[in-house]
Amino acid sequence: MDFLLNPFGIFARTIYCVGRNYSEHAKEMNSPVPTVPLIFLKPGSALCRSGWKIAIPPDIGQVDHEVEVVVALGGGGKNIAEARALDFVSGYAVGIDVTARDLQAEAKKKGQPWTVAKGYDTFAPVSDFISRQDLGEGPWDFSLAVNGQVRQKGNTGDMVFPIPKLIAYLSTVFTLRPGDLIFTGTPAGVGRLSPGDRVTAELAGGRVALDLKVE
Ligand code: MG
Repeated sequence: MDFLLNPFGIFARTIYCVGRNYSEHAKEMNSPVPTVPLIFLKPGSALCRSGWKIAIPPDIGQVDHEVEVVVALGGGGKNIAEARALDFVSGYAVGIDVTARDLQAEAKKKGQPWTVAKGYDTFAPVSDFISRQDLGEGPWDFSLAVNGQVRQKGNTGDMVFPIPKLIAYLSTVFTLRPGDLIFTGTPAGVGRLSPGDRVTAELAGGRVALDLKVE
């Protein structure tokens, strides 16, 4: 694998992920919509890029796609005000929160963390980034297709916690840093990936896009 550089030419630092940030997805998982953002992390080693392959290890059961808008931070700090939060964003990408669903279900049942279910190598594909200035104001549509068939369609206007709220909340807990990424949650329609599948995803009418094979 080559090195994955973020828009600033440095390694992604922390990869924050938001669970159940679209109510229709919470519903399909039979899970309540959170009243404060539900946060988990992925390791930087899980990142991969368009053109690479999502590697599903044998014997881990069902592995699902969750298409998400990914925020790249260009600035950092603590206790960032919601009104200023977008000033800390350098750009956006479309990504997939690849999830070993059976392992996650088992972890949930046992009250254990999701780290393993979410953190295998290649379980965090991200497209190229488009700068905040170039993408302009949201909300944006985004979608994912498997073998040409659209499985997930979302609009960032439907987030339970919009991006400024997520940044403000995260910064109450963590010191955010330039190069951090935020996977902002998936809309309804998550589904299984199988070896041989081709997965494509796009943001804002294809202004950035992902194209990967599953092996
Ligand atoms: Mg997710």
